[in-house]
Amino acid sequence: MDLFQKCLEFTRADEVKAAGLYPYFRPIQQNDGPVVVMDGRRIIMCGSNNYLGLTAHPKVKEAAVDAVRKYGSGCSGSRYLNGTLDIHVELEGKLAEFFGKEDCLLFSTGYQVAQGVIPTLVQKGEYVVTDKDNHASIVAGFVMAKGLQAKFVRYKHNDMEDLERVLGQLPRESAKLIVSDGVFSATGDIVNLPGLAALAKPHNARIMIDDAHAVGVIGLGGRGTASHFNLIDKTDLTMGTFSKTFASLGGFVVSDHKVINYLKHHSSALIFSASPTPASTASALASLEILKAEPERIGKLRSNARKMREGFKHLGFKVLEGETAVVPIIVGDDMLALKLTMELFHAGVFVNAFIRPSCPPGMQMIRTSYMATHEDSHLDQALEIFAKVGKEFGLIG
Ligand code: PMP
Repeated sequence: MDLFQKCLEFTRADEVKAAGLYPYFRPIQQNDGPVVVMDGRRIIMCGSNNYLGLTAHPKVKEAAVDAVRKYGSGCSGSRYLNGTLDIHVELEGKLAEFFGKEDCLLFSTGYQVAQGVIPTLVQKGEYVVTDKDNHASIVAGFVMAKGLQAKFVRYKHNDMEDLERVLGQLPRESAKLIVSDGVFSATGDIVNLPGLAALAKPHNARIMIDDAHAVGVIGLGGRGTASHFNLIDKTDLTMGTFSKTFASLGGFVVSDHKVINYLKHHSSALIFSASPTPASTASALASLEILKAEPERIGKLRSNARKMREGFKHLGFKVLEGETAVVPIIVGDDMLALKLTMELFHAGVFVNAFIRPSCPPGMQMIRTSYMATHEDSHLDQALEIFAKVGKEFGLIG
């Protein structure tokens, strides 16, 4: 059998395209945050992780342009060798301070952080203990750790009884890393960090939280999950991304100085990959400054998400409860999720379809997410469109 046979036999995407229901890789022609232009039409964006709307902020854009002027377009090497800029070091210092930790390390994407941290820390005979619904980058991280002969075990989503059961089956003396999303990316619910913290120490485990969807959304001044629960000292590692609230591209991890120093000198994903570009680094820095200076943006984001959650419920949609910027509407069927997504798009709203295998059967959803820069007029118009399309599909009365 030829290696490419599987590619030749893969026809599903073409079939969905032929049916006019393919919702992926849709090009955006212009992006102002809450409103984008696609197919030459004005579309309300209800599917971005640009939580504070900072990708369109003049100071963020200007910072990116200035950085290109000063440092050029790329770093042409890894942090370890020729690719460290003074703004990388500045951003690390400011992030460590922001999250109340001793030190910080940047990576080139959030995806890479999990790959750069988990297999580096969790080695032969040690355990990764991971929530079943963690993000794919964490899965990639522990699969890599497994390749290096670490072991991994999963527990049921945010289920502390199951976590206790799983931990109880592992040798007490073996080192363990419990890893969880802070805010789960599909459903928007928040990890039971107090539960994790209560179980970690007695079972000789450290805790790592992926705060991709939590930074700028929950916690004091948007400081994420550890701050939300007032458990900064109990959270050993917090990772995050620049691709959401920080309006850029890149990732980071904050922890104790000794841990960061170890990662700096052992993490393959860091040492053998080029550092974040000058523009990415400078725009993340500018976004962090805006987050600190204008915490009221977080309140606006939360009230926008609340307005939509309440609005959907009022219309009769099945919405998952929550307090973050992710508002999922459960539709429970792959085809229905795709059809709704495309119909909403034709009517002027961009949303994301989450279908199997990215979600369990019955949990297929329209994942909507909001920004601090959505205005009431955008949201009201989106709700009107949802009402019309929801009725057409018999989802609401
Ligand atoms: N973790 C989570 C929970 C995410 O949702 C994402 C991105 N969707 C990542 C990590 C990866 O981040 P990045 O986009 O920076 O690679």
